[in-house]
Amino acid sequence: MERGILVHVQSQNRLLLGPGPSSVHPEVLKAMATPLVGHLDPYFLEVMADTQSMLRQVFQTENELTLAMSGTGSAGMETVFVNLLEPGDKVLICICGVFGERMKDIAVRSGANVLTVEAAWGQPIEPEDVQAALKSSSGVKAVAIVHAETSTGVWQPLEEISRIVHDYGALFIVDAVTSLGGIPVEVDRLGIDACYSGTQKCLGAPPGLAPVTLSPRALDVVRNRKTKVQSWYLDLNMIANYWGEDRFYHHTAPISMLFSLHEALRLLLEEGLHQAFKRHAQNGDYLQRELQAMGLQLFAAEGFRLPQLTSVIFPDKYDEGKLRKQLLEDYGIEVGGGLGALKGKAWRVGLLGHSSQHRNVTLLIQAMKQMMGI
Ligand SMILES: *Cc1c(COP(=O)(O)O)cnc(C)c1O
Repeated sequence: MERGILVHVQSQNRLLLGPGPSSVHPEVLKAMATPLVGHLDPYFLEVMADTQSMLRQVFQTENELTLAMSGTGSAGMETVFVNLLEPGDKVLICICGVFGERMKDIAVRSGANVLTVEAAWGQPIEPEDVQAALKSSSGVKAVAIVHAETSTGVWQPLEEISRIVHDYGALFIVDAVTSLGGIPVEVDRLGIDACYSGTQKCLGAPPGLAPVTLSPRALDVVRNRKTKVQSWYLDLNMIANYWGEDRFYHHTAPISMLFSLHEALRLLLEEGLHQAFKRHAQNGDYLQRELQAMGLQLFAAEGFRLPQLTSVIFPDKYDEGKLRKQLLEDYGIEVGGGLGALKGKAWRVGLLGHSSQHRNVTLLIQAMKQMMGI
């Protein structure tokens, strides 16, 4: 490398409009360059406590156990499954895209007895299907679902499913990796027992931490396990002691990442959750209207489209891979390709966190029109 990383990246001037990471606010990046303090320094403990309190506001919860796990969103997913499930436990996983599949993979690896409910890609999970699955199999300990399915762009309604899950006495697990900060994630009002997210989607920080919150009922389950959590690193029984009053050393906290998350949360709450949701809704709507006006089809079912993540299908005459490469090289804009059945056929455009700006949509649409000769 002849040039330093900073000079190289700055000269490329990338705009990140893919499914994550998103472009972050300069103040968030600056926070990462803060000189280090020790991970047990009283000032750092204050930053952690502050971060917890801001995470509770963003998750809309009073849950005592609310913290940021060291690792990306998938570490949050794994944390919830390995702590709540013991070998042989029955868990019902809802699958309508890549991230539902990933939950299943992790649940199987934790030794659980995994049942599934599925919906076609592009569609949400139907409450009746969850009800039927719970009715036909007794003793399901937990039901897990993805709130914002990043592989398809579907916004999964949760209210009715939560009611059904609790009618059957199960714990309700929700993946909020792409939803938190972009659309409302009302942990307490919806009775969500375990919820996890990631920093690089709508929270507007670099990848590296996974916010997690557990209801008192879910925490009870973790505290009263018969077997030890199979992952030492992700064991909440120990990690809660570091984030809680005891401040018991478990592993060295990623200090710079926590500084950046703290700044990202501060900015989000300064804007106001309500305003941030409105911004995501308006820019998503603008993008989706413009894409349709260009004659392109949106993949997610109408009425269930996320404002922060849009899957758009290209007619056969276009080579989406070539267009995506040209978009990056000539315009400096990154978008995501399709996954699974959408591979080679679609783009996934993210307007996540700080990337969700009106002018970013205008730039993208103009670039697409130029490239496609529209
Ligand atoms: C991105 C994503 C994940 C995984 O997060 P990583 O940070 O990539 O580990 C999990 N679930 C959903 C819905 C996601 O969008």
